[in-house]
Amino acid sequence: MSDAQISALTSSAYQQALEVIASVEPRIAEATRQELTDQRGSLKLIASENYASPAVLLTMGTWFSDKYAEGTVGHRFYAGCQNVDTVEALAAEHARELFGAEYAYAQPHSGIDANLVAFWSILAHRVEGPWLEKYGAKNVNDLTAEDWETLRHELGNQRLLGMALDAGGHLTHGFRPNISGKMFHQQQYGTDPETGLLDYDVVRAKAKEFKPLVLVAGYSAYPRRVNFAKMREIADEVGATLMVDMAHFAGLVAGKVFTGDEDPVPHAHIVTTTTHKSLRGPRGGMVLATEEYAPSVDRGCPMVLGGPLSHVMAAKAVALAEARQPAFQTYAQQVADNAKSLADGFLSRGATLVTGGTDNHIVLLDVSSFGLTGRQAESALLDAGVVTNRNSVPADPNGAWYTSGVRLGTPALTTRGFGHDEFDNVAELIVHVLQNTQPGTTKAGGPSKASYTLGDGVADKVKDASAEMLDKHPLYPGLELS
Ligand code: PLP
Repeated sequence: MSDAQISALTSSAYQQALEVIASVEPRIAEATRQELTDQRGSLKLIASENYASPAVLLTMGTWFSDKYAEGTVGHRFYAGCQNVDTVEALAAEHARELFGAEYAYAQPHSGIDANLVAFWSILAHRVEGPWLEKYGAKNVNDLTAEDWETLRHELGNQRLLGMALDAGGHLTHGFRPNISGKMFHQQQYGTDPETGLLDYDVVRAKAKEFKPLVLVAGYSAYPRRVNFAKMREIADEVGATLMVDMAHFAGLVAGKVFTGDEDPVPHAHIVTTTTHKSLRGPRGGMVLATEEYAPSVDRGCPMVLGGPLSHVMAAKAVALAEARQPAFQTYAQQVADNAKSLADGFLSRGATLVTGGTDNHIVLLDVSSFGLTGRQAESALLDAGVVTNRNSVPADPNGAWYTSGVRLGTPALTTRGFGHDEFDNVAELIVHVLQNTQPGTTKAGGPSKASYTLGDGVADKVKDASAEMLDKHPLYPGLELS
């Protein structure tokens, strides 16, 4: 089908869908329209966001949403799941083929769910399984109350080593306030204080001392590639299970930008991901595993999950089918090339970047050299129609709320067709906003970490310059709502 035909069909599908929605709750229809207008009219630089295709979006709005399907393909706790079986099997097949994985589990509702499934699968495989075997029990229901208490204690007493939040790790990698930091004894590894880069020798030394059951690699805000072969070596040296959370960079793995040692799939025991970031699918999660871990991951429901979101699994299958097309490899390479253009654009204008640059899809701008906190920078940029998120930098003096950084990512605008020149221009516009933002003062007259003043006319100038680029690269071209 041609792009024009797809646009015409998508326009009429959404036009009619919104009319039906408006007949019940017009304010939701209106907010939905407005969201499209807002997304079309702003520079979306949030590194974890993207624009899924109309095919992916449309797949989510169906009656699969109404079906309960606890269990796994061919083994459900509800009747009438034959079509969900088709959907889930296809999502898993596409995922296995795309990533070269031995096993794929498409049920997690989100990245956090995927990580919880992975944690409990590792605990089931490494702790519960051998323990049950030793006591001659088939499953936990066979245990006496006393044995069950002992096993619960064992399960709750394991160790996890993950990347620290302020070094770029995710909450679920052992951050104390998160469930991952509470269900495990946790320690964290950071990055080199001078270079901001991962130091594998430091990770190895920590792992040798701490002897974790789980070594977590992967990140949310680290602008560099990771050598997963090295991480696996470390895991093997200490007998840990290597779990890689590729939520952020799954699109770069799918698009074969990260290959060899940078591809986590051949090296990790378990890989988790979201499907909505660089992978450009629906909002959701997924787990890939080796055959060894497959049986425990397959018990994600009932171990951690309830009913799967069948409509979202269907959309995952569509998105994964898209990611298997050659065009996705071109897209993924462009995402990485554009991140370099953005980073170079900042560096050539004197801005400071964590690690001095990027080789993935993320640029982490240290805004302290502009005399601003991340919170002030994020707000001033939003006033100018540039959507980003504030982010800690390593050893951030402003903590996780105000921060000293702004995280930027290229997946979304690359989907719109932005290339080198546009990203260089984006860097110029951002620097212009930050140079013209003054930090405010508190009521007591001290320096404020939140308030700021943006120079006269700056927001309009940036919005006009952005509009020119955005008009040249429309979001969902041809999709028109009257
Ligand atoms: N893992 C990583 C590395 C992430 O960056 C995120 C989200 O930002 C998640 C997991 C959680 O994903 P979700 O928001 O879908 O739960």
